[in-house]
Parts: sequence; C-alpha cells; structure tokens
Amino acid sequence: MNHPKHAVAGRPTSLHENSGPPFNPATAEPKRSPKRLRCSRCIRLKPVTAFYPHRRIRRGYQHICKVCSCQVQKDYHTNHIIQERARSYRYYETHREARRAHARKYQREHAAAGRTRLYKRNETPKGRAGQIVRDKVQRGLLQKPKRCTECGKAVEARKLEGHHPDYAKPLEVNWLCTICHGKKHRLPLEDSA
Ligand SMILES: [Zn+2]
Ligand SMILES: [Zn+2]
Ligand SMILES: [Zn+2]
Repeated sequence: MNHPKHAVAGRPTSLHENSGPPFNPATAEPKRSPKRLRCSRCIRLKPVTAFYPHRRIRRGYQHICKVCSCQVQKDYHTNHIIQERARSYRYYETHREARRAHARKYQREHAAAGRTRLYKRNETPKGRAGQIVRDKVQRGLLQKPKRCTECGKAVEARKLEGHHPDYAKPLEVNWLCTICHGKKHRLPLEDSA
C-alpha cells in the first residue's frame, strides 16, 4: 500500500523511511517550524499542541488552531440554524393562505360538533336527565348498585348504565347491564315500561 500513487502528504513514502515506527501526526516533527505553527485564521503563532493533527495536510496539523476550529464549528452550526429557520419561515409564508383556510375549516367543523353536543346535553330532556344523574353520581349523592336491576347480574359500577323510563323524571333511574339496556331501547314503548 506504499505505492507513491497512494502516498499521503506528510507521510514517509520510501521503503527506507518506512522502516521506523508508524507515522503518528501527534508525535511527528513538522518539517519547517518544529516548535510553533501559525494559525491561518487568527494569525497567531502557537505550539503544535494547540493544533489538531491532520494526516492529509503536509505539516501534519490543521491550518487553524483548536480555538479557531471550535469557533468555525460554532459558526457553521449557527448559520445552519439560521438557514433552517429561514426555510421553515419561507414555507409558512408561501403556504400561509392554505394553512389559515385549513385552521378555519377545522374550527368551524369542531365548533359545530361542540355546539351539537352541548345542545343535546343541556336542551333535550334525555340529555338533561343523563347530565343530572352523572352529576349526582359524581358528587356521591347517588349510589350505583352492584348488579343489574333487571337480570341481577353483577356488573362493574362503571359499566352499569342508567336508564330513564321517563326523561321527565331524571331521578327515577334504573341501573342496567349493557344487554338489558339494549333490550329496553329496542322493544316497543308499551313493553318497556
Ligand atoms: Zn487560531
Ligand atoms: Zn336507557
Ligand atoms: Zn341486565
């Protein structure tokens, strides 16, 4: 692998030179200024330890010192973030109308659904009766039984459903299992009472 074609600047290439220990930029003596190197960014002379080793650069170290190298990285990062923000802002700008239209549509549709729900809950006898029962149960004024009052099956409290034979009498509520409750509503009215 030591053919001159593959030679890397700063590395020994001949077989004779290569007989020593392997090349290590951290310990290798740079050819010209052995002790100090000049940073091409801050133009200061600094000891070699102030530079990161670089095997593809002739002198074996980066052209800029470690301090400058960090600064360059930071600048790149900052510029990158600025570019990213500019890009997302441009997207917002060019899609502004579409985005606003979508937001308006969403608000309209969901406001309607919310109004319908509120209307059913507050303005219909069925909704009001249910709301009154839920409220009383929540405040501990009404106790759900442990079983379905129709078939007597034991049912978890949260799965027991309140059924109103008459929505005008919200506190006359039967606690039924899902199956019995379903039957109540599927039967003709004269049979359900
Ligand atoms: Zn520097
Ligand atoms: Zn019911
Ligand atoms: Zn039942």
